[in-house]
Amino acid sequence: MSELKTEIYLLGTGCAIPQKKRAGPAVLLIADSTGSKEIILFDLGRGTLDKLANLDIDFTLLDYLLFTHYHPDHTAELVNLLFAYRDTRFGRKREKEFFIYGPKGLLNFYNNLCKVYNSKINADNYTLFIKEIEKEIFTSSTKISFQPVEHTEESIGYRVTLKNGKAFVYSGDTGYSRGIVNLANNADLLLLECAFPEEYKKEDHLTPSLAGQIAAEAKVKKLVLTHFYPLFQGINIYDRCRKYYSGEIVIGEDLMRFTI
Ligand SMILES: [Zn+2]
Ligand SMILES: [Zn+2]
Repeated sequence: MSELKTEIYLLGTGCAIPQKKRAGPAVLLIADSTGSKEIILFDLGRGTLDKLANLDIDFTLLDYLLFTHYHPDHTAELVNLLFAYRDTRFGRKREKEFFIYGPKGLLNFYNNLCKVYNSKINADNYTLFIKEIEKEIFTSSTKISFQPVEHTEESIGYRVTLKNGKAFVYSGDTGYSRGIVNLANNADLLLLECAFPEEYKKEDHLTPSLAGQIAAEAKVKKLVLTHFYPLFQGINIYDRCRKYYSGEIVIGEDLMRFTI
């Protein structure tokens, strides 16, 4: 079996609230499909495009964009991205086809943006596919499946299975639910939201202890935490999570890179 490595970059590990070192939610997966790279972006929070520039990744080369839900912190830069794809002045106009997937509500969301921005975000110079996800997607190097999670009505988490059998799971936003435990079952890397400390617990978000419980129940090999609100000063996230989960725990930071 070939040993192609898939790279995962945390582009943004924060939320909607501006923070010095955390952009809005976004994670990038670069899968090597026998020579040609496939670039898949999950969510598009504030600052995502600048983070791609920091990594010297050409934003016109994204193949897929998958939304977990439509809260502004996860979708903030879509208008900017589509607007930039039309720009010819820097010789970086998008030409290859682009796929945007998301749960129910994507078409309504996109059509409403078009009403506001008119021709400024039209895909005249490339082919844009916008699809509400109904069943698993097969790209040339991955299988992407999904499960409803406990957040908004439409919210889903994604599981990416690679050709080498390894699995990456991204929760999006969620409270504790069987959905996320099932989705994460035996994953090699689980990127799990950890929005609030226990003192500020909300039903539709996780805490370090709940994240640890989910990772333990799902028996994942590595847990990476993300989506932090600026409420963790003086709080030891690692210790709270460690009480429940004995595997590897990483407190996510912007531009961290993982391979699976
Ligand atoms: Zn949300
Ligand atoms: Zn969020």
